[in-house]
Amino acid sequence: MKKNTQISLKVKLIISYITISLFLVISLITIARYIIYNQFEDYVLKNQAKNTRQIVEQVKKAYGNSTKLPNKALLNNIGQNAIDKGFAIRIEDKNDSILWCMDPSLCGHMLSDIEHNMNRLYSNFSGDYVEKSYLINSDGGNQATLILRYYGPFYYNNTEVEFISMLNYTFLIGAIVALVLSVVIGLFMANRISGPIYKVIDKTRKIEQGNYKDVIEITSNTKEVKQLIHSVNSLANTLENQTSFKKRLARDYAHEFRTPLASLQSNLEAMIDGIWEADKERLESLYEEILRLTRMVGNIDSLVSVEENIVLEKSNFDLKEFINKIVINFESILFEKKIEVQLEGPSPVLYADKDKIGQVFINLLSNAIKYSKENSLIQIHIQETKKNIIFSVKDYGIGIEKAEINLIFEHLYRTDQSRASATGGSGVGLAIVKSIVLAHGGNIEVRSEVGKGSEFIVHLPKK
Ligand code: ADP
Repeated sequence: MKKNTQISLKVKLIISYITISLFLVISLITIARYIIYNQFEDYVLKNQAKNTRQIVEQVKKAYGNSTKLPNKALLNNIGQNAIDKGFAIRIEDKNDSILWCMDPSLCGHMLSDIEHNMNRLYSNFSGDYVEKSYLINSDGGNQATLILRYYGPFYYNNTEVEFISMLNYTFLIGAIVALVLSVVIGLFMANRISGPIYKVIDKTRKIEQGNYKDVIEITSNTKEVKQLIHSVNSLANTLENQTSFKKRLARDYAHEFRTPLASLQSNLEAMIDGIWEADKERLESLYEEILRLTRMVGNIDSLVSVEENIVLEKSNFDLKEFINKIVINFESILFEKKIEVQLEGPSPVLYADKDKIGQVFINLLSNAIKYSKENSLIQIHIQETKKNIIFSVKDYGIGIEKAEINLIFEHLYRTDQSRASATGGSGVGLAIVKSIVLAHGGNIEVRSEVGKGSEFIVHLPKK
C-alpha cells in the first residue's frame, strides 16, 4: 500500500529553495569556470609564446656579434629569469653537446613543481615535457642552439596557480553563501506563508468547536492567503449570523406564541369548567386564533429558508409584465377594498431570481393593500437607470412613524398602528423582502408619513 507521507509546507518550501539555489550555483560555477579557464588558457599560451621570444632575444643579445659562448654570469642571469617563467634552458653545439646549461637541479625542481601543480589543478591533465630549439649562431664550427624545455601543452606558474586557487576558493565561498542565503530566505518566506495558514487552521478548529467570535486579525500580501483569510473570516461571520439568527428567531417566536397560546388555554379552560358557554361565536374566534398561529408557523418556514439559505436561480424576464400578472391575482381583494392600482414606467428586462422577486413584490403589494383605506390608490412605478432597475409600491394608507421605519424590516416587528388596525399581520414579510433584495446585491428604501401613506422603493443592480 502506498504510504501517505505528509511534509509540512515549511519543509517543502525550504527544500525547493535549496534545490533551486544548488542547481543555480552549480550551473553558474560550471559555466563561469569553463569560460574563465578557457580565457585563461589562451592568455597563458600567448604569454608563453611571448616569454619564449624574450628568452631567445636575450640569449641572442648576449651573443651579440660574437660567435663565442657569452659570459656565464650573464647566461645564468638569463637562465634564472627563464626558470621564473617556467623554462629550463641550455645551449648545445652542432653535435648536441651541451655548451652551457642552467643549473639542472634548479630546473628539475621547477619543472616537477609545475608538473605537480598542473596535475593538482587538472586531475586528468595529459601534460608532458616539451623541448623547442632555436638557432642562435649558425657559424659552422661555433654553431649554438638554444633549447627551451618546459611542461606543456601549457602550464601555470606559481602566481597563476595562486590566481586559479583563489578563483576556486571564491567560487566555494560564493556557493556556501548562496546556500546559507537560500536556507535563510527559504525559512523567512516559509514563515511568512505558513504563519497565516497556521492561524487559519487554528481558526477553523475554533469554528469546528462553535467559536465564531474572533476574526483572524493578520493580513498577508500573498493573494491566495489573503483570500483564504477573508473566506474563513466571512465563513465565521456567516455562521455566527446564522446561529444568532436561529437564537433570535426561537426567542422571538416563543415570545410571540406565548400570549395567544395563553389566551387560547384560558378560554378553553373557561369553557371546560363551564364558566363560558362553548357557543359558535367563541369557537370561531378560537379557530381564527389557531389559524393565525398556523400562518405564523408557515412564516417561520419561509423566513428560515429565505434568510438561511438564499440560493438565487437567476433568469431574464420582463419586470413590468411579471408585476402586471401578480397584480391581476390580487383583483378580487382590490375589488373588495375598492382600491385602484396604477402601473407605470418602462418594461426593462431584469436578470434576477423570478420567484424571489415575485415574493418581494407580493409582500409589498399585500402590505400596501393591507394598510390602505377603502377607496384608495396604489401606484407601482418602474424605472431604469444606467446601473439599476427600480420599482416602487406607493400607498395612501396608515403610514409609518419615522422612528419605526428602520425597525419594520426586523422579523416579527409590527408597528403600533398595524397592531391597532388588527390586520392579522405577523411581521415577517418585510424581513423576507429585505433578505431577498440584499441577496441580489440591491437595497430597499422607505418613504412614509403617518396618516398619508408609504412608498417602498426597491433598487436592483442590472448585473
Ligand atoms: P406584517 O405581516 O405585519 O405586515 P411585515 O414584515 O410585512 O409584516 O411588515 C412589518 C410591519 O411594517 C407591519 O406590521 C406594519 O406595521 C409595517 N408596514 C409594512 N408595510 C406597511 C405599509 N405599506 N404601510 C404601513 N405600515 C406598513
